[in-house]
Amino acid sequence: MNTPKTKNSEIRVRFAPSPTGAIHVGNLRTALFAWLFARNQRGSFLVRVEDTDQKRLDQEATKKIFETLNWAKLDVDEGIFLDKNSEIAQKGELGPYIQSERLAIYKKYIQKLIDSGEAYYCFCSAERLKKIREKQQAENQPPMYDKKCRDLKPKEIEEKIKKGEPYVIRMKVPENEIIKFTDKVFGNIAVETNTIDDQVLIKTDGFPTYHFAVVVDDHLMKISHIFRGEDWLPSTPKHILLYKFFGWKPPKFVHLPNVLGENKKKLSKRQGDVSVKDFKDKGYLPTALINFLSLLGWSPKSDQELMTKAELIEKFSIAGLHKAGAILNYQKLDWMNSQYLKKETDEELLAKCQKYLKPYFKKNNLKENSEKIKKIITIEKSRIKKLSDITVNLDIYFKNLDYNAELLKWKEMTSEDLRKALVLVLKITAEADLSDPEIFQKNILAQIGEARGKHLWPLRVALSGQEKSASPFELAWVLGKEESIKRIKNAIEKI
Ligand code: GLU
Repeated sequence: MNTPKTKNSEIRVRFAPSPTGAIHVGNLRTALFAWLFARNQRGSFLVRVEDTDQKRLDQEATKKIFETLNWAKLDVDEGIFLDKNSEIAQKGELGPYIQSERLAIYKKYIQKLIDSGEAYYCFCSAERLKKIREKQQAENQPPMYDKKCRDLKPKEIEEKIKKGEPYVIRMKVPENEIIKFTDKVFGNIAVETNTIDDQVLIKTDGFPTYHFAVVVDDHLMKISHIFRGEDWLPSTPKHILLYKFFGWKPPKFVHLPNVLGENKKKLSKRQGDVSVKDFKDKGYLPTALINFLSLLGWSPKSDQELMTKAELIEKFSIAGLHKAGAILNYQKLDWMNSQYLKKETDEELLAKCQKYLKPYFKKNNLKENSEKIKKIITIEKSRIKKLSDITVNLDIYFKNLDYNAELLKWKEMTSEDLRKALVLVLKITAEADLSDPEIFQKNILAQIGEARGKHLWPLRVALSGQEKSASPFELAWVLGKEESIKRIKNAIEKI
C-alpha cells in the first residue's frame, strides 16, 4: 500500500489495552505497529480502554498505560489520552472509549441477539460448570459448555429471572458450519463451529466479556484493521460469527507474532524485566526502544536496522510483518541503545543522567562536581549501553581505589620494570598539559616510544584501579593533575 497524501478517514486502527497491570514490551510493540500503520496510511490511531474484567482491574494501571504511550511518543487521535494535567481524558465522536462506560450500548446489542435467537440466557451454576469441566478434563476433552440452557422455554426464562436467579448470556454457535476468514499475517483460516464453545457474552455482573465488547466496539468505532497479538487468533472465529449475527462487515485482521524471551518461550514476567517501565528505569531511550520493537515481527525491505520514527512511518507495511515468533534479543537492544546514546549531545545526556547521578551522590555522601561530571559524560558516552550504566563507573572517579598491585603489571612484567614504568609516567604526567586528552596522548607517546603497553597499562590501572576503563589520557583529563599524580604515587607504593 502506498502512503496517501491526505488524511484517510477509512483507515482507523485501535490499541485496546486492558488496565490489569503494567504495559509490557509486547503490548507496546502492538500499539507501535497499529500506530505506524495509522501514520503510514494517514489514518487515525484510536485508544480504547477495555476494562470489562472488573475483578482484575487496577486503577493506577490505566494512567500508567498512557504515561508509557506518551513516553514512547505514540500520539492518540481519538479515544483515551492523558491531558496536559496528566488526567485521563477522551476525545472523539464515537465514545465513550472506556468499556465500563458503554454498558447501555452492550445491553442494546445483546438484546438484538437474544431477539434473533443467536444468544441465550444460561442459568447454570458455577458448581455445575466446574463439574462439566472436570469431567471433560478427565476424558481429555477440550472444555466446552454442554449447551443445557440452549433451549429453555421463554416462560422458564422469565420465571428464573423473576426469582432473581443469576445468569449469563451466551452466544448460540451454529452446528456443523465452517467459519472462514483471512488474517493479513497468518493467512487463510478455517474452523469448524462444532469446536467453538457457546461463549459467554454477558457475565453475571452484567458486564460484557471481552469477546462481545470488542466486536460491538470495533464495529461502532468503525475500526478498519485490528492489530493485536497472535494470542487472539483462536478467538477470532467467535468474533467473525458475531459479525455475521449482526450482519456487519468484519474489519481486517492483523495478528502479530508473539514476542518471545531469549529462551524462545512466550515473554512472561518470570523471565525478568518485560514491563516497559523497567526498560525506561534502566535508561533505555524511547527512540531506541521503539526502533528495537519495530523489528520484532516486522522488517523493512532493506537490511537497515537503525531507523528514526519518520523512517519507520515511511517504511511500515503489513506486507513486512512475519508470523514467526520474534525473539527479544537484549544484546541487540543494548547495541541499538548505545547507538542512540551516541547521537545525544553531552548536554542532553547529562540532563538525562541526572536521575541516576543524584541518588549516587546522595548515597555516597559526595559533593556533586559538575565540571567533573561533564567530563565523565563526554568520555563514558561511547562506553555506556544505557543511562543507568553511568553510575557503574563513577566509583573510579570519586572514590579511593582498591585494587591488587598485580593488576598493574602488563603481561609478564617484573616488579622492577613496573616501578620504572610508573616513575616515568609519573614524571610525564606531572609535566604534561592534561587539559586535552589528545595532546596528553601525543605527549606520552612521544616519550615512551614503542613500549606502549608496558607504560600505558600500568598508568591506566593506576588511574582507574580497573581491568577495563576509559583510556589513561581521558582518565587523567577527568581526574586533573593533583589527583592523577596522587594515584600514580599510590600505585608505586603498592608495588
Ligand atoms: N484488551 C485486549 C488486550 O489487552 C485487546 C485485544 C484486542 O486488541 O482485541 O489484550
